[in-house]
Amino acid sequence: MKKLYIIVSILITCFIISACQPKTVKNKYKSVIMSSNEIIDDLVKSIGSNFIETSIAMRKGNDPHSYTATEKDIIRITDSSLIIYNGGSLEGRLEWALSKIGNITPAISIIDCLPKDKIIYDKDKNDGKDTINPHFWHDPSLWKIAAHFIADNLASMNDVNQQIYFQNEEVLLYILERLNNYIKEQVKKIPVENRVIVTEHDAFAYFGRAYGFETYFLQGASTSSEISSADINNLADILIEKNVTTLFLEATLPDKNLRLLQSTLKARGHFVKIGGTLYSDTLGYNNNYEAMMRHNIDTIVSALSSK
Ligand SMILES: [Zn+2]
Repeated sequence: MKKLYIIVSILITCFIISACQPKTVKNKYKSVIMSSNEIIDDLVKSIGSNFIETSIAMRKGNDPHSYTATEKDIIRITDSSLIIYNGGSLEGRLEWALSKIGNITPAISIIDCLPKDKIIYDKDKNDGKDTINPHFWHDPSLWKIAAHFIADNLASMNDVNQQIYFQNEEVLLYILERLNNYIKEQVKKIPVENRVIVTEHDAFAYFGRAYGFETYFLQGASTSSEISSADINNLADILIEKNVTTLFLEATLPDKNLRLLQSTLKARGHFVKIGGTLYSDTLGYNNNYEAMMRHNIDTIVSALSSK
């Protein structure tokens, strides 16, 4: 009986001790990497594979430009070993939240790894100042630079797995080059005069520069500004002048502004079709970055290869 009492006491003590342990104890041997969105998370997983724990700050499919960190998010951030975000003001008020919590969790912005001459700037609609266009992941050659940046950062956190991270980077670079070649081949199917992408916000500037598309949009590199009837009419003027006949919706934004543009054009005797939905700021239903990019180019080719 005494022996049974001792065993029960030990079990209760063990239970109390385990209940009091911080949550991070289960991740004792792995770094916990929090990415701001699922596109970055996909990149981090490709490099870190199962040697890291991962989490994502914002909900999948949400517009990153309007992100505000919740109290729960702040707790998750402070529980992480590292937070990786895009930067260039993509993630709404995340950068502001990170500045408020100070150095509790190291944070890195992947757009900072780009050579300065690769960054595209937009004029801010309100104050006319140059602002960074953050959507560089739509150019796979720039995503390669980000892949190396992530491998370097993960390796600096864990010497033991360094070789694995750099091997994974090599595999990813091969996949990204294959993707780049696929997109180039698909673009050839589109007549040169049809290579125009019209979307609600300026998410395809890097894609357009990489693959030879003109891009037009109702608002700049962010989705935070109000769209006025003057914006609609100004873009309508351009599309009529250039005889553009296709608009593309974006998965993270409601379609009302582009539908309004479409009806404005119709009232002026210019008919445009909706060419499909592009994944500008989310992976959407796609399993990974490569699938998302393939969806986008396949949709663009299907809509623009003939008028
Ligand atoms: Zn965006």
